[in-house]
Amino acid sequence: MSNRPIYLDSHATTPVDERVLAAMIPYFTEKFGNPASISHVYGWEAEAAVKQTRQLLADAINAASEEIVFTSGATEANNLAIKGVAEAYFQKGQHIITIATEHKAVLDPCEYLRSLGFGITILPVQENGLIDLNQLENAFRPDTILVSVMAANNEIGVLQPLAEIGKMCSDRQILFHTDAAQAIGKIPLDIEEMNIDLMSLTAHKVYGPKGIGALYVRRRNPKVQLAPQQHGGGHERGMRSGTLYTPQIVGFGKAVEIALAEQETENQRLTALRERLWKQLSNLKGIYLNGHPQQRLAGNLNISVEGVDGAALSLGLQPVVAVSSGSACSSANTAPSYVLTALGHSAPLAYASVRFGIGRFNTVEEIDIVAQQAISTIQSLRSSLVITY
Ligand SMILES: *Cc1c(COP(=O)(O)O)cnc(C)c1O
Repeated sequence: MSNRPIYLDSHATTPVDERVLAAMIPYFTEKFGNPASISHVYGWEAEAAVKQTRQLLADAINAASEEIVFTSGATEANNLAIKGVAEAYFQKGQHIITIATEHKAVLDPCEYLRSLGFGITILPVQENGLIDLNQLENAFRPDTILVSVMAANNEIGVLQPLAEIGKMCSDRQILFHTDAAQAIGKIPLDIEEMNIDLMSLTAHKVYGPKGIGALYVRRRNPKVQLAPQQHGGGHERGMRSGTLYTPQIVGFGKAVEIALAEQETENQRLTALRERLWKQLSNLKGIYLNGHPQQRLAGNLNISVEGVDGAALSLGLQPVVAVSSGSACSSANTAPSYVLTALGHSAPLAYASVRFGIGRFNTVEEIDIVAQQAISTIQSLRSSLVITY
């Protein structure tokens, strides 16, 4: 283990916390029942565990437990929210607004709906990665049924102004969905204060297991209608059929419980690590921070480096640190990601970007090793160039 690269890719996924794993284990073996079995103790104990996580997740976002629908992750939650609303409300209107820096799990369902005839407006973002609320104001149409804007960006970490967007949507009786995959457990989320009608969650970005997530679906003021995207036994009040995955659900709950309990101190620690990394890197010339400098996730540092080739930088870092250039889904591609492009970055001949995702198990020592490796790699790549920095 010790000679493996330092993991700084926490936006792609995170390890399962040992405390989370310990909570999950009994639900694979002795407490293996189907939560839908109502006539024996095996079912009851599984159902009790599911109920506990449902309440915990609801409390985490100031919702009610009946408003939590378990899914396989945020991708499925986004699909259910966007396609489910489109199908349920198409007679009211067929226009949806989103932003250019969304995860593909939001953009692709929107593009699919466009192919079916829906109107999709994809708003650009400002240079700092934040939505321009004036542009949102101008994008509303009488037939707009849904706005989908993410809570925290998976590449540049910026936090969108959810409360402002929610208020604008609520005033117009337009539903507001947010993809909070990167945000749950990391920043305060409140569906009432922020006027959020649908919220996608996932466990594996917050030290929980992969393959489990949830969609919050508002039940009153207004009651959101949702057309199920997966039909079957009628689980999750008909919105998402399929036997509930009890161990993963238990792990999801434990992961969020821990993250909330440690949120404040952990954010301070991560901010200090991020600033330590940035302080060292920014001693070099021609290095830029992507995304709003303050309004961002504590653990995110996304930089662009002039005068080096993206693939060469990635190769130089690889033995020492596991990071991503752009997003994990497209990291084989060294062209600037669509998120960075949306910030108005042009692509100079030699140009590289790196996303550092600092997490729960990273230490000061690791940050210093990574900083040194990045600096020496950048310097040696640049020394082979004619331009001096
Ligand atoms: C990781 C991520 C997703 C996908 O979540 P899965 O649970 O892996 O399906 C969606 N949106 C954002 C912003 C993410 O970071």
